[in-house]
Amino acid sequence: MKSCAAFVLAIAVLLAAPLPWAFSAEDAQPRQSAKRPPIVVTERARALHRQCLVFDGHNDLPWTMRTKAGSSFDTADIALPQPKFHTDIPRLRAGGVGAVFWSAYVPADASKDRTAAHQVLEQVDLIHRMVRLYPETFELARSADDVVRIHNSGKIASLIGLEGGHAIENSLGLLRMFFDLGARYMTLTHSDTLEWADAATDEPRHGGLTDFGEEVVEAMNNLGMLVDISHVSADTMRDVLRVSKSPVIASHSSAYTIAAHPRNVPDDVLALIKDNRGVVMVNFFSGFVVAESARARVKMFEVRRELAAKFPDRGDFEKAYDKWQKDNPIQAGTIHDVVDHIDHIVKIAGADCVGLGSDFDGVPMLPAQLEDVSTFPNVTQALLDRGYSDESIRKIMGENTLRVLREAGELAKSLQPAGKSNSRRKPASK
Ligand SMILES: [Zn+2]
Repeated sequence: MKSCAAFVLAIAVLLAAPLPWAFSAEDAQPRQSAKRPPIVVTERARALHRQCLVFDGHNDLPWTMRTKAGSSFDTADIALPQPKFHTDIPRLRAGGVGAVFWSAYVPADASKDRTAAHQVLEQVDLIHRMVRLYPETFELARSADDVVRIHNSGKIASLIGLEGGHAIENSLGLLRMFFDLGARYMTLTHSDTLEWADAATDEPRHGGLTDFGEEVVEAMNNLGMLVDISHVSADTMRDVLRVSKSPVIASHSSAYTIAAHPRNVPDDVLALIKDNRGVVMVNFFSGFVVAESARARVKMFEVRRELAAKFPDRGDFEKAYDKWQKDNPIQAGTIHDVVDHIDHIVKIAGADCVGLGSDFDGVPMLPAQLEDVSTFPNVTQALLDRGYSDESIRKIMGENTLRVLREAGELAKSLQPAGKSNSRRKPASK
């Protein structure tokens, strides 16, 4: 009798808790159940993780340093645990991180008083200072070969990604100078539509890229700077994929079909990325990966714009935006929600076209088991649980990102030298 009850209980437990291996990449159907068992990292996953180049396509620590520590590594010494941040050196090491694109981001409204390039330069300086201050941990990487060499030396290869084309203030001269300072990708827009490219979260004004926008993409190809389609409208994505000779990236974007936020990549674009051999680096932010949370955050950039207009003081604005977020709570979700996006992108574009772009230190909420930079081994385990091969896991964790960086660099060598003219966008005629 007792053993019969135990048997019934065992069956009930099995039915209630979906088995991790019951979900394979091939028959990927996102499971919306909130009750999926936590990931348990095995020795096998740890060994595989150690073999991986873990390459994060988007980390916003520079912005957190600016806003929470006055850009001072004395105020926030990242060699020590910084529990209010998602990133510090002990946790980067625990996460086995091998390479990071540090984001040089400033808000799009910096364009209004024409200080965008000025502020982005300060963020680029912050990344250079960080690398110089912690030379036993970081080294600046300007090429795929640099990434491999630095990773093999046991340090974390540090790359610079510009977030938002407002950084170049409509000048290809500035674009080239940012490249010389180490920038190896540029996200074409942030939240706002520019004079030459539509953003995903603003009014479309051009139907994608303007002629000057196409020139920017060509100039980036010539330099060997990756073109980043995170944050841009779907039409801008399509224009970039038509114009770019190099593989393109989405440095921190997830799949629209799984979570319908305009920041995410629709399936027709994923198919174009497959042809282009680009890489979509999946974003971890709960508001972009959990379907219900994405619905609740569809207007987040609109709200930010409205509040920024209402509260010109940055501190007042942050308080008002925090209040809006508290008044409009979202579900955090779990690591399984993020891996659903990986599965979907693999299904449409293939395992060669997926990477990771955490958005750590740039977002207010993260899924369970992806709370900070120490959690990357959970991704390796989650992919093993879903039946991915070791080779596919190595690609997704970082080799795909390394590949596109290499291909963009190689293509640039075969193209025209950049900078025959100092093209600027002509002022709009009225
Ligand atoms: Zn972003």
